[in-house]
Amino acid sequence: MAFDSLSEKLQNVFKNLRSKGRLTEADVKTALKEVKMALLEADVNFKVVKQFVKDVEERAVGQDVMNGLNPGQMVIKIVNEEMVKLMGSETAEITLQPGKAVTVIMMTGLQGAGKTTTAAKLAGKFKQKGKKVLLVAGDVYRPAAIEQLQINGQKQGVEVFSMGDKNSPVNIAKAAMEHAAKNDFNIVIIDTAGRLHIDEDMMAELIQIKENVTVHQTVLVVDAMTGQDAVNVAKTFDERIGIDGVILTKLDGDTRGGAALSIRAVTGKPIFYAGMGEKLSDLEQFYPDRMASRILG
Ligand code: GDP
Repeated sequence: MAFDSLSEKLQNVFKNLRSKGRLTEADVKTALKEVKMALLEADVNFKVVKQFVKDVEERAVGQDVMNGLNPGQMVIKIVNEEMVKLMGSETAEITLQPGKAVTVIMMTGLQGAGKTTTAAKLAGKFKQKGKKVLLVAGDVYRPAAIEQLQINGQKQGVEVFSMGDKNSPVNIAKAAMEHAAKNDFNIVIIDTAGRLHIDEDMMAELIQIKENVTVHQTVLVVDAMTGQDAVNVAKTFDERIGIDGVILTKLDGDTRGGAALSIRAVTGKPIFYAGMGEKLSDLEQFYPDRMASRILG
């Protein structure tokens, strides 16, 4: 399972802390060094780890904690609180336009990250909330992406707008908007093409869609299994096209956890949801506090 190795290491550090009645500054510093190692091994961004340990240390090394009733427990509590903070504290939502006004959500990400699957998962979530959702098949390059979206849309009972693979994504997006306006859709989710690596054509195409269609929320889908790469992808997408938040997929796998812990700190953008499997129901709201509890055990 995700985070297993990180959890195990942190639990060992905590066990040592708990076993000590009194703590010295040196005890805390040793423990934090171990926390630092564990986070680095979990592929958390180096700068993020450094700042995290500094923040914890500032709060943990002091008379209040050292002279308190249960200093080990206090240090553990501080680590927990700082970890929640690292992931954004609050649960973030995709912002919808007020009332019945249409909200346009553009899904972006590298090929294989889980964009098309996640678009259909999201559509199901919004449908459950009583929204009329249109999925737009804008990934005209990956073979089978359109058909995949159609199949998943059908499973979700959500209409899929497609013009095949002979039109440009921009034209498809514009036509989809007209269709949505005529038919009173509340939410339009545009699937876009990913490439294996970040490239200029992909960025240019996304920028072009944004220039031609009012996109209210740009959501980046990243694969948690790719660790620091996921964080670098998020940073680049945010700098190039501007993102509003991230959906982290494949958290059901044996990811080491680095992406979940670094993305917010590196990009300043929240994680909206976590993909927890291949089934269309496997999408969970991202709760920083629950995630921290899961990691810390
Ligand atoms: P796209 O190229 O970004 O559109 O990626 P796809 O939506 O086609 O997904 C790529 C693969 O990842 C597919 O086999 C999906 O079933 C799988 N996938 C997507 N999200 C998740 C997830 O949260 N967990 C797991 N285990 N697999 C996922």
